[in-house]
Amino acid sequence: MATTDRDLYELLGVRRDADEATIKKAFRRLARELHPDVSAAPDAESRFREAAEAYEVLSNSETRALYDRYGHAGLRSGGFTPTHFDMGGLGDLFATFFGEDLFGGRTRRAQRGADVAAEVEVTLVDAARGTTATVPFEASVACMTCGGNGVEPGTQPVRCERCGGSGRLQQVTRSVFGEFVRTHACPDCRGVGQIVEHPCRGCRGTGRVVEERRLEVKIPPGIHGGQRIRVSGEGHAGALGGRAGDVYVRVHVKPDPRFVREGNDIYSQLDLTFVQAAVGVQVQVETLDGPVEVDLPAGTQPGDVRVLHGRGMPVLQGFGRGDHRVLVNVAVPRRLNEEQRRLLTEFDAASDEDTYRLDESFFEKLKSAFR
Ligand SMILES: [Zn+2]
Ligand SMILES: [Zn+2]
Repeated sequence: MATTDRDLYELLGVRRDADEATIKKAFRRLARELHPDVSAAPDAESRFREAAEAYEVLSNSETRALYDRYGHAGLRSGGFTPTHFDMGGLGDLFATFFGEDLFGGRTRRAQRGADVAAEVEVTLVDAARGTTATVPFEASVACMTCGGNGVEPGTQPVRCERCGGSGRLQQVTRSVFGEFVRTHACPDCRGVGQIVEHPCRGCRGTGRVVEERRLEVKIPPGIHGGQRIRVSGEGHAGALGGRAGDVYVRVHVKPDPRFVREGNDIYSQLDLTFVQAAVGVQVQVETLDGPVEVDLPAGTQPGDVRVLHGRGMPVLQGFGRGDHRVLVNVAVPRRLNEEQRRLLTEFDAASDEDTYRLDESFFEKLKSAFR
């Protein structure tokens, strides 16, 4: 009984006039994607079964012709029954279909090492300038005691009796297309053909040991928090001559209490006394580049924004820098003594409407804040 009613071409993602090679390629790609060892998707297995069934039908000219002409009904009346796949034997199934071990998991072939995740924290100022950070991480490397083969020095692995040292066992399966000779990895030696009776004591037979390492990682100017930097070939060692994995360094940018970062722009607050704001003042403003002198004219208002062009964060892997926007906050006295109260009252008496008159409308000011 067929397991799927869906269009078989659609299942494989190929056109109806696709040739054999295209169909094979499409199935191979899907199979790699949907293999339960690789895919975490809960429906991976059922999707795999569908794809395998589609491949089984479309890779055979007779069943394909039947399907093209009469659809699923044609297959049913033609007596087609999809091969039932034992998911545990998927690797063997590929050997059957493609004459190759698709996943190579059990055979002794070179395997790329796994990637390592590492983290590093930099200050906002360092993120602006770019820096070199020392990143500690752990990676497994080939065991020095056994040279990475997992065999205790001075001993030899013995030949596997079950498979006679070939690492593979053959099994004949019948289906409507004739006999498949399924080759699968020997379970006793896991496809290696040899059995290690004395595993290396340095690595307990795994061939690898975990090593604490450090990397000097270049942090480019303008990096954002959470971004990852890949250092190629510094991760876990590969097996049997395979290349090492990569190290992915996640960069955390420590918040700077003086600044707020918004993309490539920097915001900071400048506190003035109401007298400074009224008479004007020259102040030092903290920026990513250090203190910068800023002249604030008489009559500076709370909420005024002074834009320091090009003093923000550098554009990552680009040109130029963002801006630094200084937001003015004006402090009004909260506690006045007698003398201060008298002076201010006198000041108020000496003031008129013109003292507080706006040169710029509120709307103009709003526009200048976004300039
Ligand atoms: Zn070892
Ligand atoms: Zn064996």
